[in-house]
Amino acid sequence: MQTNFPADFIATDRGRRANEILRSCVHCGFCNATCPTYQLSGDELDGPRGRIYLIKELFEGAEDAQRVTQHLDRCLTCRACETTCPSGVAYGELADIARMHIGPQRTGYAGVLRSFLQWLVPYVGRLRLLARVGKYFKFLMPASLAAQVPNQITQGLRTNTQGTKQVLLLQGCAQQVTTGGVNESLQGLLKQLQIGVITAPKEGCCGSLDLHLGDEDQALAAVRGNVDALYPLLDSVEAIISTASGCGVTVKDYGRLLVADPVYAERAAAVAAATVDVSEYISGLSSTLTAKYPGKRIAWHPPCSLQHGQQLDGLVETVLTAAGYELLPVADAHLCCGSAGTYSVLQPQWSGQLRDNKLQSLQALQPDLIATANVGCQTHLADAAKVPVLHWIELLA
Ligand code: SF4
Ligand code: SF4
Repeated sequence: MQTNFPADFIATDRGRRANEILRSCVHCGFCNATCPTYQLSGDELDGPRGRIYLIKELFEGAEDAQRVTQHLDRCLTCRACETTCPSGVAYGELADIARMHIGPQRTGYAGVLRSFLQWLVPYVGRLRLLARVGKYFKFLMPASLAAQVPNQITQGLRTNTQGTKQVLLLQGCAQQVTTGGVNESLQGLLKQLQIGVITAPKEGCCGSLDLHLGDEDQALAAVRGNVDALYPLLDSVEAIISTASGCGVTVKDYGRLLVADPVYAERAAAVAAATVDVSEYISGLSSTLTAKYPGKRIAWHPPCSLQHGQQLDGLVETVLTAAGYELLPVADAHLCCGSAGTYSVLQPQWSGQLRDNKLQSLQALQPDLIATANVGCQTHLADAAKVPVLHWIELLA
């Protein structure tokens, strides 16, 4: 694709990178075929090719920022388009650059909601407080927000330093408040294998929420805070493990996010290189794990952040099958469930439609359980599923 950026924009790191990405797009449109929002609306501007064109026009000063914002806000950042693209266009990175260019501010109700989410979600203390109080006031909240308030609150993990080796487990923000049992299950599994689990006392939000809402300053502050919290522990652990694929995909990107920061670049790259999804770690162990619910039929939902963001396909399926589970075929497994971080709150109609479609596919063959690998997908699907939705780690004995 030809670009014609203003000289002052192309002189910046962000402008140079956006130019590189845009020029790698040949505008073939293959990506539209796997884009969930294009499938819903049928509008070219709600598909990746159209969004890429809008972003180019925005940077060239030829497009109204409001129109670009509207279509970009409807993007899930699921990155299914990247998996499909034959030219290797880094759409997710381009979308983040465009979002940072536009900035996080929105007018009216959307603006208030976005500010509230930025104030709340990355802070575990506030999340716990809202979860404690909010469950009594759900009837006062918009349905999309009420659905995010858990009925049960879980606690953070206690460190277990006993074992022949140790790993550092990322606790996550929403995960430790809503589905803390996932990390406890992993700790129990690793204990049997003589692997200790430590946590970083100063771990904060991975930064993905602020990043995808276009708030560069807050996102990079969160990333730097986490590098400070995680880097000093690297020498004492074999790996940093993430059980929430949505957090893991961002931590793995820390090196790129801080590449231009002379103080943090090296340490950020080291943290990113040490980080693995739990499926990578478990499938690399020599022991085969056994099923906690033998004989159950499982419908597996691979989160976008796992299959498209981290390009990890097939690892969980292999572990669960080896453990003795029957994995059912699921149609359109590449499509997003509609959770997508804050998307379920900010775009409730599209998110709800995507969830209905996803549950129809997942429940088509009457599974006993649905399994997934990210807290957002788990809570979003569980809110409307007819069968329990668990993290796949919870299926192992
Ligand atoms: S992003 Fe890739 S698949 Fe989509 S139009 Fe560009 S080159 Fe084609
Ligand atoms: S990230 Fe997902 S929703 Fe956004 S353009 Fe790509 S495929 Fe479509």
